[in-house]
Amino acid sequence: TRVVGLTGVTKEYAGGVTALRDVDLDIEQGELVGIVGPSGSGKSTLLHIVGTLDRPTSGSVEIAGFDVAALSDRELSALRARHVGFVFQAFHLVPGISAQDNVAEGLLYSGLPRAERRRRAAEALERVGLADRARHRPHELSGGQKQRVAIARAVVGDPELLLADEPTGALDSASGESVMELLHDLGAAGATIAVITHDTEVADRLPRRVRLRDGAVVEDVREDVRERVP
Ligand code: ADP
Ligand code: ADP
Repeated sequence: TRVVGLTGVTKEYAGGVTALRDVDLDIEQGELVGIVGPSGSGKSTLLHIVGTLDRPTSGSVEIAGFDVAALSDRELSALRARHVGFVFQAFHLVPGISAQDNVAEGLLYSGLPRAERRRRAAEALERVGLADRARHRPHELSGGQKQRVAIARAVVGDPELLLADEPTGALDSASGESVMELLHDLGAAGATIAVITHDTEVADRLPRRVRLRDGAVVEDVREDVRERVP
């Protein structure tokens, strides 16, 4: 199944910056895709559009089977809450509450009762190998552990798509590696994941890399097979 389908996507910001130029991108269920490229090449803009946080100026965007242009902003927020999980470089955990309660935040708009949200949060912490840290608050966790909590929060609702913006950017290389291993494991279990990274060591180990330059896709590489986009 296709989870992401972008066709001819262009994004112009006010002020005349063209951040994306005629981008075509399909992502199939279970793929782990790196979005790479220099600063200013359009990576964040692409992630925002794929995450339905922003709409393209032209072109079509299909996420989890929905045509984004056909949805109102309100319907789009509902789609996002149900189908997309986000992970950020700086974790964005809520301070002062436990890891488990942080993960349960990912189900806040699910309509599930609190006890069920907490039960599922405990399960998600187990999936990321942090069952024994459920009661710890963010300041009692290492950077790598915080990012794993953030990943648990992003996947607790079983989203169709997980988007991560520089998830290893704030971590030392050992913690970064364990976070990338976790993303690989989630991918192997069927999750569809797009990761922005400027770390070439991280990027080189991803099964697929999409490279942007000046808003255009200049390379789309799967494993060792190189298909160059003209
Ligand atoms: P990257 O994530 O690769 O650094 P971005 O997607 O953030 O690239 O930016 C692509 C281009 O769009 C840059 O030239 C940037 O300055 C511009 N840009 C990004 N966001 C905005 C915005 N909200 N308004 C105007 N220009 C923007
Ligand atoms: P990792 O490399 O696995 O991300 P670290 O080596 O940084 O973790 O941390 C080792 C242990 O120290 C962890 O189990 C974590 O719970 C604990 N720890 C890290 N930072 C703190 C802190 N600020 N307060 C209490 N415990 C901490």
